[in-house]
Amino acid sequence: MGQPVALIARIAIASPLRTLFDYTLGACCADPPNLRPGMRVKVPFGRRQVVGLIVALHNGSEVPKEKLRPIDCILDTEPVIDPTMLALVVWGARYYQYPEGDALLQALPSLLRRGEPLPELRKTVWQLTQQGLDVSPQAFSRAPNQRALIEELRNNDAVEDGVLSSQFSRPLMRLLTERNLIEKKLIDETLPNTKTILKETPRALEVQQQAIMHRIVFAGFHCWLINGVTGSGKTEIYLQLIERGLRAGRQALVLIPEISLTPQTQKRFSERFAVPLVILHSGLSDKQRAKAWARARSGHATIVIGTRSAIFTPLPNLGLIVVDEEHDVSYKQQDGFRYSARDLAVMRAKRENVPIVLGSATPSLESLYNCEIQRYTQLHLTARAGAAKTAEWRVVDMRAQSLNSGIAETTLDAIRTTLERSQQVLVFLNRRGFAPALLCHACGWVAECRDCDARLTLHHDRYRLVCHHCDAQSPPPEVCPNCQSQQLVATGAGTERSELVLQQHFPTTQVLRVDRDSTQKSGYMRSVFDTVQSGQPCILVGTQMLAKGHHFEQVTLVVILDADSGLLSPDFRAVERMGQLLTQVAGRSGRGTLAGLALVQTHQPDHPVLQLLLQEGYAAFAHQVLKHRKVQQLPPYQQIAVVRAEASHAAAAERFLQHARREAQKLAPPSSRIDFLGPMPALMERRAGRYRYLLRIDANHRSQLQDLLNRLIPSLERYKKPRYLRWSVDVDPHDF
Ligand code: ADP
Ligand code: ZN
Ligand code: ZN
Repeated sequence: MGQPVALIARIAIASPLRTLFDYTLGACCADPPNLRPGMRVKVPFGRRQVVGLIVALHNGSEVPKEKLRPIDCILDTEPVIDPTMLALVVWGARYYQYPEGDALLQALPSLLRRGEPLPELRKTVWQLTQQGLDVSPQAFSRAPNQRALIEELRNNDAVEDGVLSSQFSRPLMRLLTERNLIEKKLIDETLPNTKTILKETPRALEVQQQAIMHRIVFAGFHCWLINGVTGSGKTEIYLQLIERGLRAGRQALVLIPEISLTPQTQKRFSERFAVPLVILHSGLSDKQRAKAWARARSGHATIVIGTRSAIFTPLPNLGLIVVDEEHDVSYKQQDGFRYSARDLAVMRAKRENVPIVLGSATPSLESLYNCEIQRYTQLHLTARAGAAKTAEWRVVDMRAQSLNSGIAETTLDAIRTTLERSQQVLVFLNRRGFAPALLCHACGWVAECRDCDARLTLHHDRYRLVCHHCDAQSPPPEVCPNCQSQQLVATGAGTERSELVLQQHFPTTQVLRVDRDSTQKSGYMRSVFDTVQSGQPCILVGTQMLAKGHHFEQVTLVVILDADSGLLSPDFRAVERMGQLLTQVAGRSGRGTLAGLALVQTHQPDHPVLQLLLQEGYAAFAHQVLKHRKVQQLPPYQQIAVVRAEASHAAAAERFLQHARREAQKLAPPSSRIDFLGPMPALMERRAGRYRYLLRIDANHRSQLQDLLNRLIPSLERYKKPRYLRWSVDVDPHDF
């Protein structure tokens, strides 16, 4: 027999410790050559037994052998994730400075994380029994339904349960089963056949679309940015590119920002393709999610559509990655493993040597910059597909208006005219609730959250004051707690108030509110879509939920009630987001054959950036904002990371970050160009009773920043922090 090898498995375990753990192989590993990275095991960890993932096998360990414990048991007969995925997650964990073990386990579906077996890929099919095969059709002369079912199974060998039950009733199926004419069987899923890829004929492409299809080649890694106005036919290009990949026997991964809001996208993919397609959305049970994941992993599913975390779906034959609405902030995870799914997607494409297509009507400044330095290639779609036209902008100067709770007279006139033409209106306001402030007219008292530096929002539906940052709720006071006056005024407008005001002005028109509150009721969104689709004149009022991906063909007027908040925010990304939001919202209108108008209410009609956006469009706007970023030395010209700390006392958070800054200054090589800002309070200093501070680290180059963080974090881990202090690192942060 072969000589004994002292093998050690390096194992990822979900733990905040920034390390992997070594184990000896133990009695369960009788056949070590079969042990491979990517397999799950159970190991003793402290006094518990936990699920771990083998990351590497080594001959030795830095830990003395007698201190190592053996693996308890092996859970898989083959790796659940392949070396490429393993390497991608490890890369991501290092780049975003997050514990590798935790990142790796988070990349698995929760069922697998808990040690459950990979779901079996089997399906139920129906077929004829011998008796069913022998029976003559005449036997059913008076039972046409029975006859049809028998015919169906005679024409098709085995029909999937879902397909058969959509055509015939369950009682009928049961009846024929009882008569021993048909039977069901569990069979292994077969790999998709590549001959029938499509269910419908693709559209003939327009000239610009064709040009793009020619430019994008499937020859190794390249990142393409399709910059195309809303409705210009980007999705059609994704569909046809995916088709191209499928013909070559490759799988496709499509990332989209939010699935629940875009049933149309889902529908278009499933109407186009005959091949198995999985959609990873938050509505799936753990079991369904694990199954969908397993089908992608085994190659049974050829198209995977999902939100952020779908980037971690293993795909053995990956041929193409698409990231739709690449500018969307939801691609960046805001807690824990703070990765950007878009950036990881680019890294994944590079590692797997496949093309990646980013698409947006309002590309992020990062992506535009990457095109500028020729890292990505930008492709344009300037015209809307079909006969649709782009919307025209008009500014409503709020300084000269008499106000109706945030809606100007001219705006109301425009809404009236639109409704009279039997068309639909979309009113956008990024503030939910009834009023963003409740104040005392007598003494100026304002209702504020006890635990946050924030005002409470009055919600009429629930009749509650709600904090939008910690979700604290309380009944509104009847008199001012400060001066006992009864003159409490709800000032400003949120979506609830706009809905009410619009309903009062247009009592015979249906006003539909779409925000996080109204869409809680299941089926509500469905009914909104149905109303909109029916084409009857109506008014949609809502938050950014309305800005995402919908096709509202009958909407010809879009109103942006408040463009000012984006112009006034101290967050350097706010202006970019405002430009994207305004352009996206305006893009919802006039997608049919009707021309659209977009009204922008503002108190700063002369603001140069706003003017540029409205007069010359998003591209010119983005160009200008990028220039600003360059002058101010901000991303993408500068690499940023923040160390955040929060504690129940401000001083503790600040002290920790002062320590972090001193350490970092010691570690940063004096020659490198690294700047520190802070410690400073976060934009919202107090939230949910905790004080939040941050230290910003700016560097000219990614590698300098990474190098510093790699050395800084171990030293921060040695800091004896009080229990009530939490800290984290955010690389390429989006929020401050
Ligand atoms: P985007 O993804 O850029 O918003 P879509 O691909 O959804 O654009 O296209 C917008 C509308 O135009 C859709 O209804 C789509 O079916 C239609 N469309 C796209 N490409 C074509 C084409 N080549 N010919 C006709 N209609 C098209
Ligand atoms: Zn008062
Ligand atoms: Zn609060």
